[in-house]
Amino acid sequence: MSECEFVYFRGDFVPSADARVSIKARALNYGLGCFEGIRAYWNEDDQRLRIFRVEDHYRRLLNSCRILQMPIALSAEQMVEITDELCRKNEVRADSYIRPIVYDTVEAISPIMTEDGNEFAVFVQPMRDYLDTSGGITACVSSWRRTGENMIPARAKPVGGYVNSALARSEAKANGYDEAIFLTADGYVSEGSAEHIFLVRDGELITPTSQEDNLEGITRHTVLALAGELGRTVVERRVARAELYVADEIFFCGTGAEVTPVRGVDRRIIGDGAMGPVTRELQELFFKAVRGQVEKFAHWCHLV
Ligand code: PMP
Repeated sequence: MSECEFVYFRGDFVPSADARVSIKARALNYGLGCFEGIRAYWNEDDQRLRIFRVEDHYRRLLNSCRILQMPIALSAEQMVEITDELCRKNEVRADSYIRPIVYDTVEAISPIMTEDGNEFAVFVQPMRDYLDTSGGITACVSSWRRTGENMIPARAKPVGGYVNSALARSEAKANGYDEAIFLTADGYVSEGSAEHIFLVRDGELITPTSQEDNLEGITRHTVLALAGELGRTVVERRVARAELYVADEIFFCGTGAEVTPVRGVDRRIIGDGAMGPVTRELQELFFKAVRGQVEKFAHWCHLV
């Protein structure tokens, strides 16, 4: 049996090759769907898999469903049970990424959400670094603006909304950067293509508020809690583009990104071009917390 062969599809656990969606599905034609990205961490010592903040991810998925008016007859608890079973069936014994998706299977011409025809699927695959968490990365301010609250709400995770992310990330890569930073339509810092952004100035952490067209972030929330634990002041406020250039440190955070230092923005070196002390301190605590090694936050780690 190959690694992570089984997926959850149409109410059953089936081999990945058997999970197929029609070319006529609205999910494919109009991007009608929403999804999540969740990390699971394998602990060699106790031989257990821990899924990080899984209930919070499924609550957010159900919120995305509400925003998109795509009801799905499953509770967050049931989704957690399915995910546990999927990990067990695949005998997951490595750090992994879990991708649940709700998608519209209706085969009809016209972009419209309906009560029926929405399906829930999940797959899991091994995953280590998404970005370079030790060496850090470079980023550019994108020429693409973040989709606004009244366009495609970025506080949810709609499938079609990721065209915006893909345009920005592709442009960044083509221009030799690792990642993109979105500005809002008003020109203030929003987030990365799939991660939130924090700046450090004079020892203080600064991050854009959730009103700046960014996702209601789970890692962002985690970092806020960890920063509090470390006695750091965090200010959630509007951030201007030029503040990026004078920050002492910048890091991205997200389920995929975890805590990733940004060593340069728009060809300007940030700090001394390496991971700064505040980022390092937070990253160390973060990596312990996600693995269940911080007593106070152990409840975030769901044991499979
Ligand atoms: N912003 C966007 C656009 C994302 O896709 C993600 C990844 N889910 C994030 C931020 C980070 O959010 P979280 O920490 O909840 O994964």
